[in-house]
Amino acid sequence: MAITIGVVRETLPGERRVALTPDVAKKLKAKAVNLLIEHGAGDAASFPDASYKDTEVAVDARSTLGRADVLLTVQPPTLEEIAALKEGAVTIGYLSPHLAPERIKALRDHKITSFAMELLPRTTRAQAMDVLSSQANIAGYKAVLIAAEASPKFFPMLTTAAGTVRPSKVLIIGAGVAGLQAIATARRLGGQVEGFDVRPETKEQIQSLGAKYVELGVSAAGAGGYARELTPEERAQQQAALAEHIKGVDVIVTTAAVPGRKAPRIITAAMVAGMKPGSVIVDIAAETGGNCEVTEPGKTVTTANGVTVIGPVNLAATTPIHASELYSKNLYNFLELSIKDGDLNLDWDDELIAKTCVTHAGQIKHEPTKQLVEGAQP
Ligand code: NAD
Repeated sequence: MAITIGVVRETLPGERRVALTPDVAKKLKAKAVNLLIEHGAGDAASFPDASYKDTEVAVDARSTLGRADVLLTVQPPTLEEIAALKEGAVTIGYLSPHLAPERIKALRDHKITSFAMELLPRTTRAQAMDVLSSQANIAGYKAVLIAAEASPKFFPMLTTAAGTVRPSKVLIIGAGVAGLQAIATARRLGGQVEGFDVRPETKEQIQSLGAKYVELGVSAAGAGGYARELTPEERAQQQAALAEHIKGVDVIVTTAAVPGRKAPRIITAAMVAGMKPGSVIVDIAAETGGNCEVTEPGKTVTTANGVTVIGPVNLAATTPIHASELYSKNLYNFLELSIKDGDLNLDWDDELIAKTCVTHAGQIKHEPTKQLVEGAQP
């Protein structure tokens, strides 16, 4: 029997992405499934109802949720949305399982099969489904544009009749997916760009983008290609070397993260106090605690010495057309593992399915989430 895949309007303030774009709707339709979207679901991402061909449009969220076998979301479903779903329905999207135990309990008790796309193993086979990468790429790009907009200086070198303007010195901290895109974007704007990371393999990646690698003498490669948390001694060494360095920098974009931990605190308030007036810091780790001590999530802070510290949140949502297109394709590639002849068939022997699942058939399947939500209970 053909399943119905549903999408409702995102309700989190500022969330402009949609989990299903018209292009992906077309691809799913070719898989013989039924599609149902809430009226206006794609509006904020500039995809009006009429752009979804062969897709049924429901008047409100409730009638979509009550009929969906699979619900595609960007932000995690709310408690009201979970309650309106059919028992046994499947949800796929971001879930932040560690942040809202009540939501996980509701999914468990309502026997929803929920998938958290941020838990997807980062293997080669999973690359086309990797929402963390597709959205981090956008965040890195946008962070540099925000920095350029806030800076009282040009990024590029300019030679004019009135004299020569020196290029801005731009430092990118953390050279993962977001950081490398930030480096590439700052280079395109003509900045004099440098970067560093604690994973040694990033040196070559930073240099291959035409930026300078800043040697701070700290190396902390962890498991699975990620960084590990620095020891207190390593952190002190990194901060001492960086404090001197950033006195000559105009713009800093910080992107450092360690999976499952608060963002590493790399720039202290004292270091910011040592920077030149007019310098700008954009901290894209703002939502997870910030790489800079001065950062306030969602706010712009100007320090006593005239440094602007910006803590943007949900940056990917500010580029909603491309962010939705990439995100929706990621979900499609994940769904494709399980859809055959219009039906959904979950292969629990596939690690991409098994490791991404949080709740199924009344149980919490993801062990760390189970510990967090149920503790020592059976
Ligand atoms: P992330 O968002 O977890 O971290 C961002 C960056 O911060 C990382 O490069 C990390 O090394 C760096 N960092 C952490 N602590 C730091 C500190 N104290 N100082 C400076 N930098 C610090 O990482 P990410 O961007 O999601 O990905 C990181 C790695 O995973 C990369 O090697 C990437 O190639 C790999 N990856 C693989 C796949 C895949 O194969 N499917 C997909 C995505 C990413």
